[in-house]
Amino acid sequence: MRVNEIFYSLQGEGFLAGAPSVFIRLAGCPLRCRWCDTKYAWDQTAGRDYIIDKIIQAVQEWPSKSVVITGGEPMINPDLSQLVQKLKASDKHITIETAGIVFIPDLPCDLMSISPKLSNSTPDEPELAAVHEDSRLDIAVLRELIDSYKYQLKFIVDSQADLPEIQHTIEEIGNVDSEKVMLMPQAATRDELLAKSPMVADLCKRTGFTFCQRLQVLLWNNERGT
Ligand code: SF4
Repeated sequence: MRVNEIFYSLQGEGFLAGAPSVFIRLAGCPLRCRWCDTKYAWDQTAGRDYIIDKIIQAVQEWPSKSVVITGGEPMINPDLSQLVQKLKASDKHITIETAGIVFIPDLPCDLMSISPKLSNSTPDEPELAAVHEDSRLDIAVLRELIDSYKYQLKFIVDSQADLPEIQHTIEEIGNVDSEKVMLMPQAATRDELLAKSPMVADLCKRTGFTFCQRLQVLLWNNERGT
């Protein structure tokens, strides 16, 4: 498997924020979001090849039950299922962080952390924007994911104007448990996070959705490997 990096940190986002976790970042993502904070993992070749047993061995070096498989977009990796099965066999709690663009059935994953991409993520470059718009949102896939897995739904908020699109997306998916919906400020730096958090907090108070922290930005200013 092409692995971009493996590191130990705190889960920064979602309902498990604060949990010490080993992160396995897989290489490759077709979406090219405008504000992506892991552009170094976009390319399918960005990293080094591991056999799955070596990944499991690397994960065991840290005293953590929680393992987060992230990217890039991990759900496009053909070996993901095998990796998750082997991690589960070693009794890990597995979170998969995905944009929700691909459905894979029967993964023994404990939490599907889905972050559907809104129009605020569209890149400026016309060629990248065309690919992005083609694939960023697949309502049928999102529906299958939430029907099949324990999940959280994280929407990245750039401004208050994103709210109608978020509400429309939730309505289109249908059957979404609003207690599992989180709103997260779009912020790559601590200053940006602090500047946008009050606006997102206000939206959460108005809608009842949960505010999603970004501890890795707050604590380490999004330094790589955190
Ligand atoms: S889906 Fe995630 S990894 Fe892919 S470009 Fe968007 S933010 Fe980056």
